[in-house]
Amino acid sequence: MHSRRQFLANTSRLAAITTVGARSGTNCSVADDNKTRHRYIDIHTHLGAFYHGRELTAELLVQFMDHHDVEMACVLPLISPESAPIVQPVTMALAAYRQFPDRIIPFCSLDPRAVTEPGKRSGHVAGVQGLIEILKRYQAAGCRGLGEHKTGLPFDAPQQMALYEACNKVGLPILFHLDDIRNPDTPGLPRLENVLKAFPELPLIGHAAGFWASISGDAQFEDFGRYPDIPKKVIAGGALDRLLSRYPNLYGDLSEPGGEKALARDLEFAREFVIRNADQLLFGTDVLMPGQAIPQFELLASLNLPDDVQHKIYRGNAIKLLKL
Ligand SMILES: [Zn+2]
Repeated sequence: MHSRRQFLANTSRLAAITTVGARSGTNCSVADDNKTRHRYIDIHTHLGAFYHGRELTAELLVQFMDHHDVEMACVLPLISPESAPIVQPVTMALAAYRQFPDRIIPFCSLDPRAVTEPGKRSGHVAGVQGLIEILKRYQAAGCRGLGEHKTGLPFDAPQQMALYEACNKVGLPILFHLDDIRNPDTPGLPRLENVLKAFPELPLIGHAAGFWASISGDAQFEDFGRYPDIPKKVIAGGALDRLLSRYPNLYGDLSEPGGEKALARDLEFAREFVIRNADQLLFGTDVLMPGQAIPQFELLASLNLPDDVQHKIYRGNAIKLLKL
């Protein structure tokens, strides 16, 4: 692991090579040489007051990033009624991006139950074309992905399929929450597999208790709404290993207690799981309030991962996936 002193020494050099201009356009590139090799890209953060009185502002997020050696962070809006006590609009993520264009990667969020323009709906399903028009406007404003996708609809409900189709058409990866009530699925994740099969070119980044409970072959539906005890042996044959190896468009977001405890419950299993799925795992924190403890930093360091694996998970996979 890098030291704080090394990080500070690298920061001034980085300022020269990481420019706003370098990120715009399709051939943009974030510096990815030896000096930046282990700086994190955080796939999962939120702005606003998820908890009353504990607002995380863009300034506080960037302070957190500086403290933890995080070069860039994805800011994920939360707009579905099931997703947060008070919604976190896309405009908030875009405002943070305008304020810190070389540190913040804005995502957009769109509930498939959204009203689209008259004539662009079909029955209860928002028309794919109507959704595409909204997504394209967000993309033009700088959004690199859709998420956090966190609705009360079953994972492969018809409305959801319309949104996935729209994201597939415009080329927006989706970061989704999956538990027992948000985008719910059942053990074995058959609904998720339906979507992976239907849209093999659409990157789907999984997160939360239900997704990560599926690391173990004995996951029950009740486990989708809670976190495992630590330690707790992982039973081989979990849905995640099966789906990650069969569908290269599936990714795992290691943020929040779901990602953390999936690894911490069985460190021996975790190290091998991370190594064999190294191309499909992404570092993330899910930081959403000031002073939040993030065990992922120490946990991932403690796995003593091979250098190339660490590089992919900390930043390399995010650079590729989000075309940074
Ligand atoms: Zn979530």
